[in-house]
Amino acid sequence: MPAQIIDGAGLARSIRQQCAIRAKTLTEAGHQPGLAVILVGDSPASAVYVRHKVNDCKEVGFRSVLDHMPEDTTEEALLARVRELNADPTIHGILVQLPLPKQISEQRVIAAIAPHKDVDGFHVASAGALMTGSPGFLPCTPYGVMKLLEAAGVSLRGAEAVVIGRSNIVGKPQAMLLLQSDATVTICHSRTRDLASHTRRADVLVAAVGRAKMITADMVKPGATVIDVGMNRDENGKLCGDVDFDSVVEVAGAITPVPGGVGPMTRAMLLVNTLEAAERARAGGG
Ligand code: NAP
Repeated sequence: MPAQIIDGAGLARSIRQQCAIRAKTLTEAGHQPGLAVILVGDSPASAVYVRHKVNDCKEVGFRSVLDHMPEDTTEEALLARVRELNADPTIHGILVQLPLPKQISEQRVIAAIAPHKDVDGFHVASAGALMTGSPGFLPCTPYGVMKLLEAAGVSLRGAEAVVIGRSNIVGKPQAMLLLQSDATVTICHSRTRDLASHTRRADVLVAAVGRAKMITADMVKPGATVIDVGMNRDENGKLCGDVDFDSVVEVAGAITPVPGGVGPMTRAMLLVNTLEAAERARAGGG
């Protein structure tokens, strides 16, 4: 029997609807949630991502401020803008679209964002909070994956979870969140020997690599839940994930499609984080 398709687009839609309701309450009380997005340079892909984020804000009634800075922006100029936004009480979340041009240190820029406005969850304070189980902002993609697993009714306690990829924005925080949910977690990466021997043990498999269709049916345990974070182009230029969907759907118990799985959830969780930042600011008198 083919796998259950986990509908990320549908879940993201209902999260946006809930965000809109909470945003309306805040706005009526004079605290409209505000997100600042900074785009540096002319990458067409980054421009598309940023446009989606700004449109999502409009849809749910957030204020958004888009700064488009030129490709030759200096690090100092970008840091100065981040500091201004840190001090702006109408802005609750700050997002600097990555990657940045080579003259700018991403690390220094992320470190300059006030942790209480770090709605991307990339600041070391956010990473530390996640590591220690303290309150903070979760990176949007792994946060969205956890919501997908929850919505699909996947039981994580004691489950074998395998995450492929160890980036700071997806793989590592994903592994930490699965661990917090009592899964037994294995993290695989490009130096892992015999990847399939790990993936075949997984009750929950999260692929976050960036290699089109690398996870094939023979690498998946029958009945497993497969979450495909990858966003790639196939040989025909069509958007596809890290998972060979057509074959794996016949083996897995549940699977996310690409598009329509993790991608929309990442966008939705940015809204959730921004809303939470606004609610915390209000509660704290900010
Ligand atoms: P990344 O920083 O490039 O990390 C990729 C990871 O995959 C690395 O840890 C790398 O290992 C590992 N890897 C590479 N080749 C491998 C192989 N043959 N076997 C096992 N592991 C391998 O990428 P990322 O930022 O985490 O993103 C991963 C993918 O998710 C990309 O396709 C990206 O576009 C997508 N993404 C999607 C969303 C979304 O919303 N859907 C959000 C973020 C990212 P090493 O560490 O050893 O190099």
